[in-house]
Amino acid sequence: MPTLFLDGRWTSASAGGTREVVNPYDRSLVRTVDEGEETDAHAAVRAARRAFDHGQWRGWTARRRARLLRRVAELLQRDRAEIARLETLDTGKTLVEGGIDVDDVTGVFEYYAARAESDPGRLVDAGNPAVRSRVLYEPVGVCALIAPWNYPLLQMSWKVAPALAAGNTMVLKPSELTPLTTVKLVELVAEAGAPPGVVNLVLGSGATVGAALVDSPEVDLVSFTGGLDTGRAIMSAAARTVKKVALELGGKNPNIVFADADFEAAVDYALLAVFFHAGQVCSAGTRLVVEESVHERFVAELVARAERIRLGNGLDPDTESGPLVSAEHREKVESYVDIGVAEGARLLTGGRRPDDPALAQGFFYLPTVFDGCRSDMRVVQEETFGPILSVERFSDAESAVRIGNDTTYGLAAGVWTGDARKAEYVARGLRHGTVWINDFGPYLPQAEWGGFKRSGVGRELGRAGLAEYQEAKHIYENTAVEPQRWFAR
Ligand code: NDP
Repeated sequence: MPTLFLDGRWTSASAGGTREVVNPYDRSLVRTVDEGEETDAHAAVRAARRAFDHGQWRGWTARRRARLLRRVAELLQRDRAEIARLETLDTGKTLVEGGIDVDDVTGVFEYYAARAESDPGRLVDAGNPAVRSRVLYEPVGVCALIAPWNYPLLQMSWKVAPALAAGNTMVLKPSELTPLTTVKLVELVAEAGAPPGVVNLVLGSGATVGAALVDSPEVDLVSFTGGLDTGRAIMSAAARTVKKVALELGGKNPNIVFADADFEAAVDYALLAVFFHAGQVCSAGTRLVVEESVHERFVAELVARAERIRLGNGLDPDTESGPLVSAEHREKVESYVDIGVAEGARLLTGGRRPDDPALAQGFFYLPTVFDGCRSDMRVVQEETFGPILSVERFSDAESAVRIGNDTTYGLAAGVWTGDARKAEYVARGLRHGTVWINDFGPYLPQAEWGGFKRSGVGRELGRAGLAEYQEAKHIYENTAVEPQRWFAR
């Protein structure tokens, strides 16, 4: 079956390009997909433009759009096992993680269905009883939705659900490494009854298809999740046509542990925070910041457990962590280990590929812990996007906040303490978009997600996540107009 979706039809790439999608566990071929180019991107934008400007979609009521979203949620659950498996084959994550992703995005579609129905705009008091003033929220238009490879289904769904709820049309561009669950998502949205042209899909590289979408004068908004450098390039390119831009660019997220925290739980979550999905998580807790008095014991326990993490095939129920996504990405992760060593960080464990011959074909890397880190080290400041933990120490709550904020990113942070006032002090002091107290990682469809500082622009999820895809329009109606006689009385 062809894998580009243009104007309601599955089609091959116009120039006949294809690409092999490989399983990062063993480099086996999972599927050959179509590889589009600029011409395909332009065709997709034209289809989305037509559907927005002239299609029946504009006439859909919010309630009807909500029904569509609810149907997508049902279909995601119907095909849950298949989708989880595709995500595992594509990314290397475990089946359990893939299933959690499906459940999470089901909740996101349900949430935006409810929001679509309950967002009729608002009345404004104009201070004059003869005036009826209303603010309506209308769709922005054609949206380019560009997603990365670490959470292909989840990150694309965080964009598609609110974009549909708001009444936009769109072109989806997943990572060329991991397109399979996006193909599936588009199938489900079509099955749920989205009219032709509302959702279009172009597979291909960021440099060709992605850039063509960002450059197109027919695209009104770009929503992007990915690396900082790509985000910068997109923001700058979007300036030429003054597009709206929403960017989620990752983080370097501190996980702050006080001596009075629940030791067992804090160690357990510190491992989960950094090694979940082999560290390929924008909100991974890659900077552990521990109070001096408990530091030694905490790190010893953490290292002992990190060394017992079972790497393997995501399809195997015994596997706790899969491989990195690609050979190229593993090289990037390895380069950061070299950087950390050269900077004088103390390597406590990992720092190399596993010896197990059963893992030799995959892009595996051992969970790695660096102690003795300082905030000015690159391994502490830059997003390695792999299973690398840096450990720093602090002496009091004030220094914990200072260290936690000593980053150009600001996506997420955790604080562990048994003292509610201390927790509140730190949570308020941190300049990060999400702060977890005695937890690390959960998000809610109802609560905004996004970054301070260089972690991005705008928000996903929650009310603000819908607002990204809306234009506010003020309608001011004078119901008792009379001549003003301002001029030439
Ligand atoms: P990128 O930022 O390059 O890719 C994200 C998406 O953007 C992909 O679909 C990519 O296409 C596309 N893209 C790339 N260049 C352009 C462009 N000029 N215009 C429009 N779209 C473009 O991420 P990488 O995969 O290269 O990863 C690089 C680093 O980014 C990682 O090592 C990690 O540090 C970080 N990252 C952060 C994520 C986050 O959640 N914040 C997620 C993933 C990565 P394609 O790749 O198909 O060519």
